[in-house]
Amino acid sequence: MESLFAVQDEDVVRGQLEHRRAHLSERTSVMDAEAARAITVTEVERVGLERLDHARRQHRYEGEVAAVETRLAELNEKLYGGAITSPKEATSIQTEVGHLRKRQDDLEGQVLEIMETIEPLDGELATLAVTGEAQDATIAAAQAVLDDTEAEIVAELAASAERRDVAVAGLEADVLARYEKGRPSFGSSAVVRFSGTDCSGCPYSMPAMEADRVKSLAAGTLSDCSECGRLVVR
Ligand SMILES: [Zn+2]
Repeated sequence: MESLFAVQDEDVVRGQLEHRRAHLSERTSVMDAEAARAITVTEVERVGLERLDHARRQHRYEGEVAAVETRLAELNEKLYGGAITSPKEATSIQTEVGHLRKRQDDLEGQVLEIMETIEPLDGELATLAVTGEAQDATIAAAQAVLDDTEAEIVAELAASAERRDVAVAGLEADVLARYEKGRPSFGSSAVVRFSGTDCSGCPYSMPAMEADRVKSLAAGTLSDCSECGRLVVR
């Protein structure tokens, strides 16, 4: 019956290893690192959108500046190209030139303002990029530790399964079946030893009659404990 205890030992080992694998602090570390990385990604998106918004405005104002410059060039060409026919026309053109120059100054002032707004955003994005790289490295390191730990557990599970197979080979099929049947209820003590006077799975002392019955069996005999329902080996 030692093979049966060996099978149970390996089932306990497997249960512990699987529980360990399901609750690895190394996995929590990876998830924490990924969560921190996700926050950075969100922040990059937010700052990036804000920057894009300003850049679009800057582009639009720069387009307007170019249009004003084109118009100013046309008016200067008219003024100094000798095509003016009357003083009134010259005055009118000069007035428009004055307005356009004012408009050009305003636009250029706004472009400058936008550039000053964008500058710190670029600084923020650069900092976030550095942070992101560091976080990627942290994730990779945590993942490597997790992979190593999981690989160790997988190897231990395989070794345990191998030992269990060897133990199972030494068992009668019906003995194994009786043991498997008791496992859902009794877990790591589906099969227990008879102490000489008691079933070691029973929470209380075995009734004298039942103890006598088991005592009368040959050593190594497998029996069902009528008290707790476990398999008990004399
Ligand atoms: Zn019992």
